Amino acid sequence: MKSEVLAVEGWRKVVHFIDDQSGLNAIIAVHDATLGPGCGGCRIYPYASFEAGLEDVKNLSRGMTYKNALGGIPFGGGKAVIFADPKTDKTPEMLRAFGAAVDHLEGLYYTAEDSGVTEADLAMIRSVTPYAAGMEDKGVGGNPSPFTARGVWRGMQAAARAKFGAETLKDLTVSILGVGAVGMELARLIHEEGGRLVVADVNPTAMKEAVERFGAETSTPEDAIALDVDIFAPCALGGSLRQDSVERMQAKIVAGAANNQLKTPDMDQKLHDRGVLYCPDYVINAAGVISVGLEILGTWATEEMNRRIDKIGDRLSEIFERAQAENTPTGAVADKMALEVISKGAKSGVKSTSAA
Ligand code: NAD
Repeated sequence: MKSEVLAVEGWRKVVHFIDDQSGLNAIIAVHDATLGPGCGGCRIYPYASFEAGLEDVKNLSRGMTYKNALGGIPFGGGKAVIFADPKTDKTPEMLRAFGAAVDHLEGLYYTAEDSGVTEADLAMIRSVTPYAAGMEDKGVGGNPSPFTARGVWRGMQAAARAKFGAETLKDLTVSILGVGAVGMELARLIHEEGGRLVVADVNPTAMKEAVERFGAETSTPEDAIALDVDIFAPCALGGSLRQDSVERMQAKIVAGAANNQLKTPDMDQKLHDRGVLYCPDYVINAAGVISVGLEILGTWATEEMNRRIDKIGDRLSEIFERAQAENTPTGAVADKMALEVISKGAKSGVKSTSAA
């Protein structure tokens, strides 16, 4: 396997790996390792160019630095991308070669699931390196989606308290865009609390399930964001908060699981100006990586997970209070708080890894 360290300013380490035998072409990026080793998933995607993959892994690894800091786990930001189509190109050899690449970094980076990678793939990677997590083992860890859903639900409750003075989601209406692994479980939690649901998905089977199980109404993906509802929950792909969609929005809260919800950074200010309470995506959807973090630390337990997930709501309440006191958008406040956590960690000399 060939490896080349790429000079990327502002990143702790970025390495390009090529293995001709298995066809592996991957980049591992560790953005910041102040609080601990970089931790974040591996994405398998047929990027149009090397530059596109590099850009993605840079953005994703930087995002993980912020997410892990505010998630309260002792890990920095890391992420990996494999240039391949997961449907046609993924092979056990490629996954094992990727495991060897992760191992090459000697603990500076821990990998986990992201799009294109399954739990079975992770097990394959894990057969080569100990630096992989996110696999269910004797009831510990595993599929993060139910945890993520619970974290979003807790965050939504915190937002409803701050915005409407509501103690629960009862009688509030939530529009969920994307009822997949996270969105469907979120729908269940809202329904059980007495909330009303509107769901939109490109998959009609998923919508049918939400209608049958939770009495949800349906909408189209295009209209889901503009409905006269209390809360909008983006749980499909990123980028749904755009200039045109935010202008059409009637909901007073945005609380969903999708990554990178803001199409452009200025949408943070735009939502703030319109009086919409935005739950910063990487704060509200952090439960999955918190589970992975506890799994790596060997401290995973159901009660501990639930305690940590409940803290997502507390963290968001803190963000809302600061945003109001400083008249600053919530996304900007979250970024500031994450940097404060990292700087405090740097001062206290938290150093988790001596790896290169
Ligand atoms: P998923 O693939 O299980 O579900 C996504 C759903 O969105 C599917 O039902 C799909 O049909 C639907 N969808 C896709 N494109 C759509 C579109 N244009 N309009 C409407 N619906 C569309 O994914 P998931 O695991 O539920 O994750 C949802 C989002 O949350 C993703 O953005 C993911 O990155 C993010 N996220 C997930 C986790 C987790 O633990 N699974 C953790 C953090 C963040």
